[in-house]
Amino acid sequence: MLGGVLLLAQILSLTGLVGDWAADIERLTQSKIIVMRLSPGELPADEPHRSVARKHFSDPVFLQMFSAAQALSLNPNGPAGPFQYIFLNAKLAPQDQGALNGLLGHELGHLWIRALGYPTPRYATGEAGCLSVATGDALQHILMRGEMDRRGIEWRSGSVNQLELALAKMKEPLPKEPVKTPRCQMLAQISLWLDVDLGLKEKDWSHREEFLQLLGKRFPAVAEQGRILSKELAEVNLADKDVHRRELQRVFTQLKGFAVTQVN
Ligand SMILES: [Zn+2]
Repeated sequence: MLGGVLLLAQILSLTGLVGDWAADIERLTQSKIIVMRLSPGELPADEPHRSVARKHFSDPVFLQMFSAAQALSLNPNGPAGPFQYIFLNAKLAPQDQGALNGLLGHELGHLWIRALGYPTPRYATGEAGCLSVATGDALQHILMRGEMDRRGIEWRSGSVNQLELALAKMKEPLPKEPVKTPRCQMLAQISLWLDVDLGLKEKDWSHREEFLQLLGKRFPAVAEQGRILSKELAEVNLADKDVHRRELQRVFTQLKGFAVTQVN
């Protein structure tokens, strides 16, 4: 039947260390984690996952974010809803089991932080959504890396693979006409700066310094913001919920101030 082919998204069951973590989060939240590998625009066959995916994939901003990401996590009804989702982008998520475990660990980390009741920025559509994501990532990634290390979930090699690709892209010659970088992308670059600066040491990635220097040369304003936030976040205990809330507000205010000075 031409044009009527039903593409079935693949539902994955988690085992090993990531499976243990998923089970802990499910116990905490009393809700099931559904992991699916699907291409942007593809829908799972069964309800209610099909309706949930359809609702989010019909939002152009969500679809754009998903198309550019390896994975996204989502709890559509808040932490107490019956299901939480991890959508793996079939076009970008790694096939390799080790790298995939690191990616799943990352997404579980976001769900874990919500399950523990840390304050999180409210997701909004459009550019405000990018600001929420960048603010949340700046703080959450720090806690998540610590927890992945505690649980023995290897995340560095997959992360370094992605960074090597980003580094190669940055080394490509610049177009002759200057191109304005969209605000959302600038915010994502600040998150990336923080991930590399705070998350990886020279022994983890030999190109760490080269990457930060090149990113700073290409986007001086990103590096400036990255340095300010990095220094601040390295000195606070984000595991403390009051500190976490205060820092969330500070980082949000600072990134917003940065974003409004950038012309799209
Ligand atoms: Zn993240």
